[in-house]
Amino acid sequence: MFELCRTDPDVFRALMAEIRRQTDQLEMIASENFVSEAVIQAEGSVFMNKYAEGYPDHRYYGGCENMDTVEQLAIDRLNMLFGSEYANVQPHSGSQANMAVYFGALNPGDTILSMSLAHGGHLSHGASVSFSGKLFNVVSYGVSRDTETIDFEEVGRLAREHRPRLIVAGASAYPRTIEFDMFRMIADEVGAYLMVDMAHIAGLVAAGIHPSPVPFAEFVTSTTHKTLRGPRGGFILAREQFGRLMNSQIFPGIQGGPLMHVIAAKAVAFQEALGDEYKTYTQQIVANARKLADVLTDRGFRLVSGGTDNHLVLVDLSTRGLTGAEAEARLEKAGITVNKNAIPFDKQPPRVTSGIRIGTPAVTTRGLKEDDIEEVANYIADILSSDSPDGTIRSVREKIAVICSRYPLYSKRIARYDKAVQQGCEG
Ligand code: PLP
Repeated sequence: MFELCRTDPDVFRALMAEIRRQTDQLEMIASENFVSEAVIQAEGSVFMNKYAEGYPDHRYYGGCENMDTVEQLAIDRLNMLFGSEYANVQPHSGSQANMAVYFGALNPGDTILSMSLAHGGHLSHGASVSFSGKLFNVVSYGVSRDTETIDFEEVGRLAREHRPRLIVAGASAYPRTIEFDMFRMIADEVGAYLMVDMAHIAGLVAAGIHPSPVPFAEFVTSTTHKTLRGPRGGFILAREQFGRLMNSQIFPGIQGGPLMHVIAAKAVAFQEALGDEYKTYTQQIVANARKLADVLTDRGFRLVSGGTDNHLVLVDLSTRGLTGAEAEARLEKAGITVNKNAIPFDKQPPRVTSGIRIGTPAVTTRGLKEDDIEEVANYIADILSSDSPDGTIRSVREKIAVICSRYPLYSKRIARYDKAVQQGCEG
């Protein structure tokens, strides 16, 4: 740290502020997590200096023997984790993974049937502002009004009517188990491919807590940085017969040189996810989310679909005279980070919304258990129930600071940063 502190104090200051921000508040954004020191070390390494276009044993550059080792480790560990036949660990992000599948399975103008963004889908599943919505003909399904779970009658009806070439399952804000077998049946009926984007739930799938899409889908895509607790990035799993096609869609199709330092960090995270401790961790994520759901429901809040099966809850604030944007701002002042989120059939625009999405993966990494979550959920309810919340926000802020010090994070790293500052960056 001394070097960065000395050579670029501006970036170093921002880094100091960010590590404090991450550790001094409770991170409850459902898509975020905290990686291990080992993952940080693999990513912050000289692997980043190397061009390695191509794939293990088939590179377009010399000097790739260590790249081959590390990429093959990542591939093998990923296949072991999900029981898949083929894996590509090169996608720079979840969106890139999705793009590669679309480009491999479809021609421009073909029809995709995917979950509407407004009901919990993701931008890269066909939103008009995304490449996916610009290049393909997108038909959207949603959740039913009464259960707020995926409306399979609608999925089937739209599939029969529009004959999509690809059906996409997977979501960014869906608190319930996704029934991949139902999607498979519909895809078979209309002769469509099935792609499952399991970005949010990949960690739960890896640990066997959520059903796996691998037996049901031709293509499975994911990010690596959410419940899976790896570096920012993506991957693709597919049936063996699509392996060559997927490889060529990623490179040279849509990417150049792979980010080998990120792939090294993915390998480390996949190894961690294969361990028993990780399984216990994911069980705790779900137990914590259930506790959060129970307390908020007891305190009179309405949860979309009435609860959760996974790592997140979606709170409907429309009956409480509060918007998602206001709720997000209040909680942030109290040291609890969440995000505003549209709820199904939302009457508010996307920048305002009627809901907030709250997730437990990051706080569970910190070590919080059900008792702590009960305490936090009550603070959230106090803040969101109050007509003049300033006093409540102040007192909750202090209590959150106590919880944060009870569950320290990156302490050794912070000590190193502090030492660099104390010594005037000389060391
Ligand atoms: N797919 C889903 C379901 C997501 O929730 C996200 C990100 O939130 C993505 C894909 C995109 O991932 P990235 O931000 O890495 O492009």
